[in-house]
Amino acid sequence: MPDIGALADQCKFYNCTHLHEPGCAVMAEVDNEGSPHYIHPNRYRIYTELSEELNAGYKY
Ligand SMILES: [Zn+2]
Repeated sequence: MPDIGALADQCKFYNCTHLHEPGCAVMAEVDNEGSPHYIHPNRYRIYTELSEELNAGYKY
């Protein structure tokens, strides 16, 4: 997801997963109306689901 990837550079932690970290630039833009980097909540939800699927894939 290019828009989330671009914001990831601004996260407080370089290895941020954008799921629960403090200082996360992605979470700050979710449903942030008026922001040029606005991320729709549904889009963020899809991102978190994809992320969890990827993490699950590393188990085997
Ligand atoms: Zn983040």
